[in-house]
Amino acid sequence: MTMGVLDALGGFRLTLRQVFEPRVTLQYPEEKRPKPPRFHGRHVLNRYPDGMEKCIGCELCAGACPARCIYVRGANNDPERPTSPGERFGFVYEINYLRCIHCDLCVEACPTEAITESKMFEFAFTNREDAIYTKAELVVDDEGHPRRQPWEDWRDEDERWTSAWVRATAPGGDPAFEGVVGWSPELGVGTRPPERGQSDLPEDEATPVFSLRAILASRIFRQHGGRAW
Ligand code: SF4
Ligand code: SF4
Repeated sequence: MTMGVLDALGGFRLTLRQVFEPRVTLQYPEEKRPKPPRFHGRHVLNRYPDGMEKCIGCELCAGACPARCIYVRGANNDPERPTSPGERFGFVYEINYLRCIHCDLCVEACPTEAITESKMFEFAFTNREDAIYTKAELVVDDEGHPRRQPWEDWRDEDERWTSAWVRATAPGGDPAFEGVVGWSPELGVGTRPPERGQSDLPEDEATPVFSLRAILASRIFRQHGGRAW
């Protein structure tokens, strides 16, 4: 046998061996992989467990937004029927998704955890008006879930851990606060469980992609002859 045939057989053997390896590809978009807990998708405006809106119309999110895509106007609460616990509430709230870069600076800036992001990013528009989400679309429903629009491709995992937010830094920069619940509960959703923190093991309930990382890491490790990569 020539070297060419031997090489070809070696190639077939390699292919055959991969057939029995764990599959890491999915039939997207029919199948979707769970996204990381800090994934930045479409926003929601949250409500307290009593149904009150968390937004107080302070406009800090609009001031922090580098893309200038948030428009907020506050108004005084009706003392008899307040919309939020504060003196003011978000009367007008709009996000222009033609400009949003999902940096989450608005989430970091919000003093009441009113605005957070889901993990749903599969939404496209056929006109510019649909790309501007109004308050009616952003405020969560009476069960505390995002209001799903007809042009959005939601899966149950996409709203997992949407309520509240894990900030990029621990409160006050103190690592002792890592993994400690530091946010208020949400309407119908409860309180988000804590992560272990950025410096701890990534495999916990709020980090559902670790198994894929483990599979890929072990395969790359083997392909490099067991050497670190
Ligand atoms: S995620 Fe960033 S770009 Fe998008 S609305 Fe918030 S601050 Fe603006
Ligand atoms: S979402 Fe937060 S930062 Fe923005 S106006 Fe409402 S309370 Fe203020």
